[in-house]
Amino acid sequence: MNSQTPRKHHMNAFETVQHYFDRAADKLDLDPGFRKLMLMPTREITVEVPVEMDNGTLETFVGYRVQHNAARGPMKGGLRYHHEVDLDEVRALASLMTWKTAVVDIPYGGAKGGICVRARDLSRKEKERITRKFIDQIHEIIGPDKDIPAPDMNTDAETMSWIRNQWEKYHGFNPACITGKPVEDYGAKGREEATGRGVGILAFKLLQRMGHKPKDTSVIIQGFGNVGSHAAKFMHESEFKIIGISDISGGYINDNGIDIPAALHHVIENRTLAGFSGANKVTNEEILVHDCNLLIPAALGGVIHVENVNDIKAQIIIEGANGPIDADADEVLFKKGVTVLPDILANAGGVTVSYFEWVQNRQYYSWDLNRVRQQLDAILSSAYEKVWQQAQESQVSLRTAAFMLAVERVKRSMELAGI
Ligand code: NAD
Repeated sequence: MNSQTPRKHHMNAFETVQHYFDRAADKLDLDPGFRKLMLMPTREITVEVPVEMDNGTLETFVGYRVQHNAARGPMKGGLRYHHEVDLDEVRALASLMTWKTAVVDIPYGGAKGGICVRARDLSRKEKERITRKFIDQIHEIIGPDKDIPAPDMNTDAETMSWIRNQWEKYHGFNPACITGKPVEDYGAKGREEATGRGVGILAFKLLQRMGHKPKDTSVIIQGFGNVGSHAAKFMHESEFKIIGISDISGGYINDNGIDIPAALHHVIENRTLAGFSGANKVTNEEILVHDCNLLIPAALGGVIHVENVNDIKAQIIIEGANGPIDADADEVLFKKGVTVLPDILANAGGVTVSYFEWVQNRQYYSWDLNRVRQQLDAILSSAYEKVWQQAQESQVSLRTAAFMLAVERVKRSMELAGI
């Protein structure tokens, strides 16, 4: 098996989310009618995205948008460009967004989108044409009060600007139609760092609660993109001992601590960590099972599975990525007493600051960075405390506790609205 490709899941991605949902629903004694209603997506669309490539050939890609649940507000979720994107994955991620926005209690439902394409092979112009064509196909079902996309893997602030511009051609000026925009183009200060920073904030709180000091905590981070690199930066500044980082080019270990500013600089200069010195090179498999206290998968889904779970040394795992742990592996970790901070809380910093961006756009008013950071801290801290409390009260894992809170909130909104 190629070390760059994650192994195929035992349960598919949507079944995994369904499994977590069911476990919480059992605890809540949720009736079968509600379960079905809450699990099924409201709307799923698959579109054809025909594009002329730079070399003059015609290519056709497949794009998806899944709108999972709108009970708590307009639906919200990222847009991913990756060659493994398919309907099952988008559906799973859309469902996770419903629970994520509910856990942090922001007024949104859940959605997700993606285009199946080898993003790294695209030129900037090809990526722009694909993006605009995709928006031509879905503009009617997205918008500030309907469904608000945001960046995810291989989409960034520039992509969001293209989306805004394309959407506005049909509907007129309204920057709240998309979040994760460049700061100078109606974006929010602090949005880019928000997910990684949130991971760091929560790591700090969790470690404190468990009686560990950051400087005595060895950390490995898988993925050095938006989430991984900002988590590394924040945690390095908070004196965590980061001994391993990785990206598509492989893993880099230094048990005495990695010079994170140097790694960040290396990636700015070279796009990836390839050639980074000051650490030993290991494979993407090895980095996950290297000895450390805290492991943060912040790249792909399904990277911790039944075949490697027993080799994992970390006692604490914080899910920076969405769905990095397969459901079967999650059971094993729970039995081994490993503490897992689940994705729907751990990486909710991004959607939280996206919410701040949407609020600012709608008020034609811009917050300073301190306000963004303070409010992010407040929202994540409050969600974290509630999840921790729920876990203690119900004697369940943090994941089940987070799902219980989320499912209860979504159910309440559905009941209040009347079905
Ligand atoms: P990104 O594209 O910025 O970065 C992905 C990183 O993973 C890159 O460093 C890439 O080199 C690395 N990578 C790819 N394949 C790898 C492999 N096989 N082994 C090791 N590393 C590999 O993406 P991102 O925005 O940082 O997203 C990462 C994860 O976090 C995704 O699961 C995404 O859904 C989730 N997430 C992102 C945000 C956000 O705001 N960006 C918010 C919530 C959740």
